[in-house]
Amino acid sequence: MRLSFAGERILAVMAHPDDADLMCAGLLERARSEGAAIGVAYLCRGDKGQPDPPLPNLADVRFGEAARNAGAIGATIIRGIFDDGSLVDGEPGRAFLLAAFREFRPTLVIAHPPEDYHPDHQACAQLALSVSWMSASKGFITENLPPLTQQPALWWCDTFGMTGFDPTLFVDVSPWGPGKVDRLASHESQLARGPGGSSHPFAALVRHQMESRGRESLVEYAEAYRPHQTYKRTRAW
Ligand SMILES: [Zn+2]
Repeated sequence: MRLSFAGERILAVMAHPDDADLMCAGLLERARSEGAAIGVAYLCRGDKGQPDPPLPNLADVRFGEAARNAGAIGATIIRGIFDDGSLVDGEPGRAFLLAAFREFRPTLVIAHPPEDYHPDHQACAQLALSVSWMSASKGFITENLPPLTQQPALWWCDTFGMTGFDPTLFVDVSPWGPGKVDRLASHESQLARGPGGSSHPFAALVRHQMESRGRESLVEYAEAYRPHQTYKRTRAW
């Protein structure tokens, strides 16, 4: 038995410009190959993760890095507007994400889990949960963008390094794993962080993580998720 994403509209709601490429790009590319529409919304501008020497236009550079990879897998990209470290579940974030939901109209949202390591990731989780409810509620008005007809399902994605994440669903991304690793090279500004550029070994970590999740689920490469079970966001798959 194999789950199909055909006909779904899948939106990854991530904190920073590289997070979708790190955490859920395998699912997105597989879903696209099966006939889903895919999108990436990141909420923070990516203005704080400076390489050495620092870039004055880091947020623009990071948008370019993210957009290149989104384009490579056929994903719509929604650019974040909040300063790194400032993200909270409050009115500005909800309004931004509500407009994004009503424009993209997801049936399935992928977001960082609430237990993730970074405060922006934690805020992103809460915002995704809050707005997954609000998006189909007629009481919340967005100009020229009608409410969704149904709340989207919500899946938490894995944590960076798998720390503290207890998955309940594994997605086989074996054919797409190598491409996911290769595309991490686009995040040049992040690979250049730290002395010698060696403090951010994205490719090795992500390959290991997909292999490890694959060993748990008896495939070559897998990504791990946990569907969030709450009223109107729970689905039968
Ligand atoms: Zn992040």
